[in-house]
Amino acid sequence: MSVRQVAILGSTGSIGVNTLDVIRAHPNRFKVVALTAAKQVDLLAQQCAEFKPAIAVVSDADGAARLSKLLLENKINTQVLYGPEALVNAVTDSHCDTVMAAIVGAAGLVPALAAAKAGKRVLLANKEALVMSGDLFMHAMKEGGGELLPIDSEHNAIFQCLPEQFSKEPNPRHGVEELWLTASGGPFRNTPLDQLASITPEQACAHPNWVMGRKISVDSATMMNKGLEVIEAFWLFGLPLEKIKVLIHPQSVVHSMVRYRDGSVLAQLGQPDMRTPIAYGLAWPERIDAGVAPLSLTQLSSLNFAEPELERFPCLSLAFAAAKAGGTAPAVLNAANEIAVAAFLDEGLPYLQIPSVVEEVLNTIPTSSASSLELILSIDARAREAAKAVVKDILCKH
Ligand code: NAD
Ligand code: MG
Repeated sequence: MSVRQVAILGSTGSIGVNTLDVIRAHPNRFKVVALTAAKQVDLLAQQCAEFKPAIAVVSDADGAARLSKLLLENKINTQVLYGPEALVNAVTDSHCDTVMAAIVGAAGLVPALAAAKAGKRVLLANKEALVMSGDLFMHAMKEGGGELLPIDSEHNAIFQCLPEQFSKEPNPRHGVEELWLTASGGPFRNTPLDQLASITPEQACAHPNWVMGRKISVDSATMMNKGLEVIEAFWLFGLPLEKIKVLIHPQSVVHSMVRYRDGSVLAQLGQPDMRTPIAYGLAWPERIDAGVAPLSLTQLSSLNFAEPELERFPCLSLAFAAAKAGGTAPAVLNAANEIAVAAFLDEGLPYLQIPSVVEEVLNTIPTSSASSLELILSIDARAREAAKAVVKDILCKH
């Protein structure tokens, strides 16, 4: 068995830490060759001391100086780099064969694309990359000739329920009729609508089933996350949008399903623990111990499924509309959402104004074809500026 050489983009985040947890249990299978983080220098230094990667990357020069000092004190021989270009170096210069793309948001796009182009096995957690540039990303994977393994639990579930050939070359003979993405409905699934106005960041980040980073936790509360996942599924699995359905499933045990022409529905079940899809992606096509407790069906009281209420989750409708519009609309949706969520978390933007910001920005920026990375990045920047202006306006009136 050859040892997989793994680079982790976003190693200090929730997915990054879970990835290292799986790797830690399999030292003969995996070697960590690059780790990256934005600002969490102390945790990154600890990770470097334990896994001794060739390269570590942080966002800025101050962080790099602090990290270098900590590594020197501990006699760790890791090369320290900083800035967005260094994220690409971490993927291309570290001799990795496997890249966990787990930076949150648009910041993860360029290094994830670099991994795709370089023919790596890409473990894709960073759904925003695919939402912004699905067409380019899937082409880059094809050209690079690497393997794309979805880490998002729903997409990982669907990947497991599809025939192996399907992801490479979808064929009507496979009889795939629909993909059913499950969604927990987040912490406010049953909250009376008139109480949503006063939701705080702490309430929004307290997800009932999953422990995740703050941005995706808010996205789960608004269900923008599921909207982004519909777009992600569209690119990953190549089915028309009408065939991708969302189902509320509060227990988060059925991670998603595929309905086939002959009446079969295949589902993947498991604990709500990201180490399962992470281990699946790392070891594919083999299966390894993920450190996850076995699922006990007899201890579950019930499994429920329901249609999402669009009135409660306007972000879901906005995402459907952007998906339908295609081109640069999903990139605009994503950028406006990132700004609105950050403003909710850090600047007091009211929870219910998150969809208002996204909608207004979608209405002001015309959709064009998402034909190049430069164009997508410039639309992303424009949408961010527009969203910041809308946020400022709302905050002034409050
Ligand atoms: P997180 O906030 O916990 O971690 C994000 C990581 O990215 C951190 O290491 C951080 O340092 C790094 N980072 C943030 N901004 C950066 C920047 N500008 N430049 C470089 N690095 C930066 O997020 P997370 O919950 O681990 O999620 C990561 C990605 O995985 C997201 O795209 C999310 O949608 C996706 N995802 C997460 C989960 C989950 O359970 N957490 C599940 C499915 C998908
Ligand atoms: Mg998910």
